[in-house]
Amino acid sequence: MTNTASQPLFETVAFIGMGLIGSSMARRIKRDGLANKITCAVRSEATRDRVLELGIADEAYCDIKDAVGDADLVMVCAPVGANETIGAQLTGVLKKGAIVSDVGSVKQSVIRDIAPHLDEGVHFVPGHPLAGTEHSGPDSGFPELFEERWCILTPVPGESEDAVAKVKALWEACGMHVECMDADHHDRILGITSHLPHLIAYTIVGTATDLEDALRQEVIKFSATGFRDFTRIAASDPTMWRDVFLNNREAVLEVLGRFQEDLMALQRAIRWGEGDKLFDLFTRTREIRRGIVDAGQYFTNFSAEGEDRKSDEKAKKKPAE
Ligand code: NAP
Repeated sequence: MTNTASQPLFETVAFIGMGLIGSSMARRIKRDGLANKITCAVRSEATRDRVLELGIADEAYCDIKDAVGDADLVMVCAPVGANETIGAQLTGVLKKGAIVSDVGSVKQSVIRDIAPHLDEGVHFVPGHPLAGTEHSGPDSGFPELFEERWCILTPVPGESEDAVAKVKALWEACGMHVECMDADHHDRILGITSHLPHLIAYTIVGTATDLEDALRQEVIKFSATGFRDFTRIAASDPTMWRDVFLNNREAVLEVLGRFQEDLMALQRAIRWGEGDKLFDLFTRTREIRRGIVDAGQYFTNFSAEGEDRKSDEKAKKKPAE
């Protein structure tokens, strides 16, 4: 999907944070002429230099205030744990009518941390593109990252419909399907579809790491089984994921409790040789996998934030044995 609008959707877009997600969006905006100017505020000098070298922003600043003053849209693309500090720097510096949005993987905490700092007349449309990889930084981005994936917007009731429509149009121009829902609902859904799977991957890879040395070597050598997918997910950015778990505590703990109960039931079935229980569950889960493939989300491996196109392309052509 490319921008079919004859006009750019925004005059100036300012990014706060230019890692995988920010730089992918900036690349798409540049490629398809979705804005006339891109500015960014980036912490480290190395990232600022790299962003300018890559030509994905026209101006790069250290100070947030310098980057956002002229912006029609401010996209917060830093780990969610940084939002309170970032929000505080947005007070009194944005144009009237400017829109603030974000890409954070948790939505209630983003609203809690940013909304109170915004002046009257500034709009706030939180969002979460369900697209990503396990890589980080401005070099890891690419303009097709969002293609055919879902983006969830979580505006609070009463937010301007026009502002929501503008953010929606931008994500659609980036190739995404867009849906609006409550932040609380988003956090519960992502708790099960993304956050819990990441927690499981971190745990399994951590368990393997703790094995005695000889066994660990063989785990790595023979990892071309299920374990390899877990290692890819467990390679995801530690700061981002620490912040996700600390900021979606309730939903993750609730779903983790249910998961532990189900795991115990499986443990019991294995202990007592209850093959029919195992078979029934594996049959049901296989159907779910096929449903995901049929829904066109086949290139997403079981992580909502990561992807493994090759293995899922294979899965589409040839159902798992
Ligand atoms: P990333 O590649 O690690 O980039 C993060 C960017 O934020 C970097 O430019 C970094 O600056 C900046 N940053 C880090 N800490 C900061 C702080 N305390 N204050 C200001 N800036 C800070 O991360 P990402 O994968 O793009 O993730 C960004 C956001 O997108 C997160 O909120 C995440 O939840 C969300 N998200 C991620 C994925 C995914 O799969 N990765 C998918 C969907 C949504 P420096 O370069 O100077 O360190």
